Amino acid sequence: MRKQTNLDHGPRGTVQPLALNVVAGGAGFIGSHLCRALLDRGESVLCLDNLQTSRPSNLRALEGQPGFRFLRHDISQPLPADLTRMAPRITRIWNLACAASPPLYQRDPEHTMMTNVVGTNHLLRLAEAAKARFLLTSTSEVYGDPEIHPQAEDYRGNVSCTGPRACYDEGKRAAEALAFDYGRAGRAQVRVARIFNTYGPNMDPGDGRVVSNLICQALRGDELTVYGDGSQTRSFCYVSDMVAGLMALMEADIDGMEPVNLGNPDEMTVTELLGHVVTLTGTRAPVVHRPLPVDDPRRRRPDISRARALLNWAPRIPLAEGLEATCAWFAAELAAEPAAAGIAG
Ligand code: UDP
Repeated sequence: MRKQTNLDHGPRGTVQPLALNVVAGGAGFIGSHLCRALLDRGESVLCLDNLQTSRPSNLRALEGQPGFRFLRHDISQPLPADLTRMAPRITRIWNLACAASPPLYQRDPEHTMMTNVVGTNHLLRLAEAAKARFLLTSTSEVYGDPEIHPQAEDYRGNVSCTGPRACYDEGKRAAEALAFDYGRAGRAQVRVARIFNTYGPNMDPGDGRVVSNLICQALRGDELTVYGDGSQTRSFCYVSDMVAGLMALMEADIDGMEPVNLGNPDEMTVTELLGHVVTLTGTRAPVVHRPLPVDDPRRRRPDISRARALLNWAPRIPLAEGLEATCAWFAAELAAEPAAAGIAG
């Protein structure tokens, strides 16, 4: 059962604070699952979110849960004094705050860059003041359009610093650099996860990602959009596996001074993914091809040897099972909120 307060009795009868987690981006897709998992573990969560890309229903499902508090805040802005005053009680800081879907993070590239660089620095300063452990969710996008396959953490990537994805890719690369500088200088204990494509319930139907687009299009009988010829590959990880990986990384007894890939190595083409969605939904809607976005990576697959070795972690949910659960969730969402239908990206 969940705890009612942020205090608990320690082994010798002393009153000890429970873990207080700050989750930036906690109303978002992965963030909302993480908040839920931390609450289920009996910990307290202070969720920071600017609600830029979050779904209000993700937040509604968490509000009112014992141990949960929400503060509307954009991390690219200085942190509120309320939060800095709480520093002595904060034990863990998770940074999941940034639009992650290409059409959404490209809408306001300056804000995307500032969220990653300035926002991460604000949270690192809080971690330093709080002596809290800090986890950055970085991204497979730091590998850009990779020339090495699969991608291991020591690959330095092939990123365009001038293209439309740069605000996100280079923003995350700078955020990693900052985190490791704090770590090297002993200013904060850091962890960096490089997240590969993740899917599951709580995604926004209008997010513009391939999984949400194809499922929502199939459910609504709309045209199924494939960008380019559909031969580009991705490797899709179910959200519960991702959250388990993030939690294992945060708690691992390691020095944290190397990034860790988290993702499912089960690689497929976009056309193969489309086939799974068609089989699952039985849609007869036509497939339309749209231009491949600029700098769209050709192939992507994580090498997760490091996560296996350091965290004893590997994803467990096969695509068929994850897609079925995701599809059922989207079906319920679209039925409840027909106006919130997806976008074609
Ligand atoms: N994509 C697609 N149809 C869509 C949305 C995306 O074919 O409706 C493609 C996109 O061009 C990319 C892949 O699917 O090659 C994954 O796109 P997503 O936006 O989900 O993630 P990312 O590009 O960030 O890996």
